[in-house]
Amino acid sequence: MVQELHDLLGADSVLSGVAIERVYDCDAYTVDRSKPACVVLPSTTEDVAKVVKWCNQNDVPFTARGAGTGLSGGSMPAMGGVVIATKRMTEILEIDVENRCLLAQSGAVNARLSDSVKQYGLHFAPDPSSQSVSTLGGNIAENAGGPHTLKYGVTVQHILGLTLVAPDGEIVKLGGRVAGGPGYDLLALFVGSEGTLGLVTEAWIKLTPLPTVIRTILISFPTVRAATQTVADIIATGTIPAALEMMDKGILNALSAAFGLTYPEGTEALLLIECDGDDATTVDEEIETVRKICESNGSSSIATAATDAERAKLWKARKSGVGAMGRLAPSVVTHDGVIPRSKLPEMLDHVYAVAAKHQIGVANLFHAGDGNLHPCFYFDDRDPKQVESVVAAGEAIIRRCVDLGGSVTGEHGIGIEKSDLIGLMFDEPSLDLQRRVRDAFNSKALCNPCKILPSQKGCTEHKRRWRGTAW
Ligand SMILES: Cc1cc2nc3c(=O)[nH]c(=O)nc-3n(C[C@H](O)[C@H](O)[C@H](O)COP(=O)(O)OP(=O)(O)OC[C@H]3O[C@@H](n4cnc5c(N)ncnc54)[C@H](O)[C@@H]3O)c2cc1C
Repeated sequence: MVQELHDLLGADSVLSGVAIERVYDCDAYTVDRSKPACVVLPSTTEDVAKVVKWCNQNDVPFTARGAGTGLSGGSMPAMGGVVIATKRMTEILEIDVENRCLLAQSGAVNARLSDSVKQYGLHFAPDPSSQSVSTLGGNIAENAGGPHTLKYGVTVQHILGLTLVAPDGEIVKLGGRVAGGPGYDLLALFVGSEGTLGLVTEAWIKLTPLPTVIRTILISFPTVRAATQTVADIIATGTIPAALEMMDKGILNALSAAFGLTYPEGTEALLLIECDGDDATTVDEEIETVRKICESNGSSSIATAATDAERAKLWKARKSGVGAMGRLAPSVVTHDGVIPRSKLPEMLDHVYAVAAKHQIGVANLFHAGDGNLHPCFYFDDRDPKQVESVVAAGEAIIRRCVDLGGSVTGEHGIGIEKSDLIGLMFDEPSLDLQRRVRDAFNSKALCNPCKILPSQKGCTEHKRRWRGTAW
């Protein structure tokens, strides 16, 4: 395999060996792992097409990988085979300021897209907290959200066109520089398909004007309930902040250990709230409404950012939170579920109760305004018992999300992690329709097998091999 792929792409574009197997055997969901046979580093759409055709001719599974920051095992090569990594496909090919759009290769890092058009007062609005490393292709495949999703929407609302390599190796174009177009909306179908319907190699993205007025506040609360009730109350008024993020004491402890950040005495939770727009009076009124709601729920102190530097300082806690958890334990699993925002107070109580029952550490930082929970369990994945506890606790939380009228995922996708739980949301005929859609694109099931849908042929037998195999 390696020799034939060398012949196709050149020797420096094919990686193999023990070190490579270990680096590419999982994404940021480290509970399930599976080794690739080799990794290829294409530079162009045509390179990707050559590899995918080769895989088809030889019945070898293949899996796309961007930065590997996925949190549901999406880029784990579940059946081995070839990992197609987009690390070399990082070019920004065209910036069209007049029409507010940009064409980039799929391996371009999210934050670089916005940096490249900042001088024109524009940005790429989807901003996952992993934006300093995660790629455009990974964002598209996961339909990524982020702190500003609340006001600006998720990735699908910002994609105009795609160049794809379909699972059979054909190069296909969907949409383009201009939004809309006749025929089935395959663009929307592809975004969020988690790499199971083909590989995106280039994308036209929409550019959004940067707001000229931004107000950011960081508010501390004496209890988690007071903070979650505040979120529910803000949303109930109809005010939509640009961002409404929450961090609990577990995260604050990690941030103190990692970066020496300090918080007012008695803080049990923080809300980071941002309002933006182009009219200072309107934005100030919004932030005033929010501030009053915080006070009525007993907020204990408020820090306000007046400059960009102060704003960056307030965001530091939120952006560094997951990384800081490395101080608490060797492994972290960040769960992802959604609930109606009015249910946040009772849901957080449930999260703490589940963690206590399973005797695992938990910390929460999440897009509270979207009702998008991210309980982060910290543990040691070299201990199979702890791994099983984390998986069981995660399932208990996801089941409660569904019971409360929410969803099994908000933004991290189903991947391998929740392929057994997606059935909580769909009956068999609905799942079967999804299977038929996938099979219409991916009839040989070689393209990112075993992801999203339950009980796929050959996957059930492999499952035992993935679990708890930390080396
Ligand atoms: C600290 C941290 C914070 C995060 N914050 C957020 C957040 O705020 N919001 C959010 O939504 N997510 C967040 N995530 C999850 C993750 O960063 C996103 O899902 C991101 O979009 C993944 O991008 P990636 O380049 O790392 O993709 P990968 O993890 O490499 O892949 C993800 C999926 O995309 C597929 N894929 C990758 N490239 C392509 C391609 N070119 N064509 C087709 N399929 C492809 C893979 O097969 C896989 O199924 C966070 C993760 C971490 C570690």
